[in-house]
Amino acid sequence: MRVEIIDIHCHLTFKEYEADREKVIEDARAILKCVVTSGVEPEDGRKALELAESESWHDFVLVSLGLHPIHVVEKSDHEISDYEEFISKNRTRIVGIGEIGLDYYWVRDPMKIKRTESVFEELLELARELNLPVILHLRGEGAIERGLKFVSDADIKRAVFHCFTGKPQLATAICEEGYHISLPASIVRSKTMKKVAKRIPLSALHAETDAPYLSPDTEQKRNVPQQVKVVYEEIARQKKTDFQTVEDAIDANFERMFGRSGL
Ligand SMILES: [Zn+2]
Repeated sequence: MRVEIIDIHCHLTFKEYEADREKVIEDARAILKCVVTSGVEPEDGRKALELAESESWHDFVLVSLGLHPIHVVEKSDHEISDYEEFISKNRTRIVGIGEIGLDYYWVRDPMKIKRTESVFEELLELARELNLPVILHLRGEGAIERGLKFVSDADIKRAVFHCFTGKPQLATAICEEGYHISLPASIVRSKTMKKVAKRIPLSALHAETDAPYLSPDTEQKRNVPQQVKVVYEEIARQKKTDFQTVEDAIDANFERMFGRSGL
């Protein structure tokens, strides 16, 4: 039987795949149903759209367009508003807005923090206008709590907290607001992530790799989308259920969150 799993967050445009990108995508396609590659800034976003539209990967590589907070600080207001217009124009070619959010780990200067927060608000507003889900990057002390407040204040209906590193209690609060949690392949090394997988309902979970980052295997530096399989396996273990049940549930979650089956 064919395994049909989904990697809802990776970066196939990144330089780590420069030498063998086609093979990486072909290998992923052998076991995955689809992947969502996330643009992190304007240039990367253009690359992601181009990649997704190549004949060979059509309907396998899906795109979300966002502006990672570490890139917000290096762009001018003008560049950001041009990019927002670009996103609006490409509404039908994307499945979500992301990754967007807050990063108190890399962005420490109070003025810069303020700016990342106001751009985050703008991008949430854009997602609401375009009726698209958001994929959230929230890193550093208090970022998840604050991000949750921003998202609910902006009246966002569909949001995924990508690469969730928070405590199980916080995951529960997020699910109670109707939002979803995505767990990465590094779950194999994280007790907290395992607890989150156990605690929150299957109906609010997604799986991702954030490839080329966060490899589950410390020997192998570069991560690839098919490693998302270990997240499904770990969720099944934590839920004391079988792989197929997890696969069906995540498939349904993907449909509810991104409004398409990926086929
Ligand atoms: Zn990412």
